[in-house]
Amino acid sequence: MNIHEYQAKDLFSSYGIPVPEGQVVSSAAEAEETALRFAGPCVLKAQIHAGGRGKGGGIRLVKTPEEARAAADRLLGNPLITPQTGPRGLPVNRLLVERVVGIDREYYLSITLDRTTGRYCLIASEAGGVDIEETAAGSPEKIHRQLIDPAIGLRSFQARRMALALGLDGKLGESCVRLMLALYRCFIEKDCSLVEVNPLVLTTDGAILAMDAKVTFDDNALFRHPEEQQLFDHSQLDPLEVRAGKFDIAYIKMDGNIGCLVNGAGLAMATLDMLQECGGPPANFLDVGGGASREKIAEAFRIILQDRAVEGVFVNIFGGIMRCDIVANGIIDAAGDGSCNLPIVVRMAGSHVDEGKRLLVASNLNVTCVDSLGEGAARIVERLG
Ligand code: GDP
Ligand code: MN
Repeated sequence: MNIHEYQAKDLFSSYGIPVPEGQVVSSAAEAEETALRFAGPCVLKAQIHAGGRGKGGGIRLVKTPEEARAAADRLLGNPLITPQTGPRGLPVNRLLVERVVGIDREYYLSITLDRTTGRYCLIASEAGGVDIEETAAGSPEKIHRQLIDPAIGLRSFQARRMALALGLDGKLGESCVRLMLALYRCFIEKDCSLVEVNPLVLTTDGAILAMDAKVTFDDNALFRHPEEQQLFDHSQLDPLEVRAGKFDIAYIKMDGNIGCLVNGAGLAMATLDMLQECGGPPANFLDVGGGASREKIAEAFRIILQDRAVEGVFVNIFGGIMRCDIVANGIIDAAGDGSCNLPIVVRMAGSHVDEGKRLLVASNLNVTCVDSLGEGAARIVERLG
C-alpha cells in the first residue's frame, strides 16, 4: 500500500528524521495563505501515488503568495502525467507546500527487501535526484548496497560505511548515520516494503534532510496497523480497481482492448502473455480466484464491460474447484440481457464443462467456445482484427 509524500514525511518526523517545513493544502486559497505565512519562496508538490513528478511538472517553485495561488490553481483538480503514471495520469487533490531549501548536494537513500538473499537492503548513491534510474543503468558503481540481516538489524558500522561511501564524514556523517538508523527503525516498526528518500539533501546551510519521501507498507502486514489503513487515498486508484477490491477480485487496469476474465493468478499472467504474443493487447489483469460464486463472476464481467476501451473479452477458466457452469451462468447474469454484443471467446476446461458451454451457446451472447489457451488467444485477436 502506497501513501502520499506528506504522510510519509509526517511518519519520518515522528522518527526524528528531518524534513523541510511544510503544510498540506487542498485549495489554491490555502496554498496562497501558506505561502504568505512562510513569507518567502516555496515549492508546491503535487501529491500523487507516483514518482517522476519533477519531470512531469508536478513540482513548482514559486516566489510569491500570488504565484502560489496561480500554480496551485493549475495543478489542483487535474490529472498529473509523469513517466511513472501511464498516459491517464493520476488526480491531484492535495499539494504539499514547503519552504524552499537551498540544495548543495542530492543523494539517494532507500531500504527495501532483497528477495534473492532474503535480507533487507540499504541502498544509497551520491548521484541522487530525478535521474536516479539513469544512474542505476549507466553508472551502477555509483549505487552502494549494504545487506542487513533481519535478525541483527542495521548496525551503526554499516550505516557509517554507507555515509563514508557518500563522502559524508565528521558531524555530517554522524547526522547521516542517525538518519539511516531512524529510517531503518521506521521501516521495521511500520512493516514497510520500501522507504525511499530521493533526494536526501545536503542543504546550503550544511544540514542533512529528507526532501522527498516514499513509503510503501507491506499489504500482508496491514492487519497489524489499523493506523496505516486509514492513510489510504482511494482517489489514486482506478474506480474499477476500487469496485473490484470490494468484491475481493484481483483486477488491474491495463492499456489494451481485450478484457480478460481468468481464475488463478498464474493462469491470468499466462493469458496476458499469450494475448500479447498473438498481437492482442490486454485491457486488464483479472483473477476471480478459486471457487468464486456466480455473483462474483457476474460482477467481474460487469467490471470488464465498464472499461470503455474493451472491444472483446477473453474468458479463460480451468474448472477445478470452480465449476464451468457457474462461470457461464455468472457471465449470462452480467451480460445476457442483450446489452452486450462484443465478441467473447471462452476457453473452459474441467468440472461441468459441457453444461457450461451449452449454457453459453444457448444464450444470446456473441460467444465462441474453444478448447485451448493458444487457440482462444488467436481467436479473440482474429475477431477484433
Ligand atoms: P519526484 O520527481 O516525484 O521524485 O519529486 P521530488 O520531491 O524528488 O522533487 C524533484 C526535484 O525537485 C528534486 O530532486 C529537487 O531537485 C527539486 N526540489 C524539490 N523540492 C525542492 C526544494 O524545496 N528546493 C529546491 N531547490 N528544489 C526542490
Ligand atoms: Mn523524488
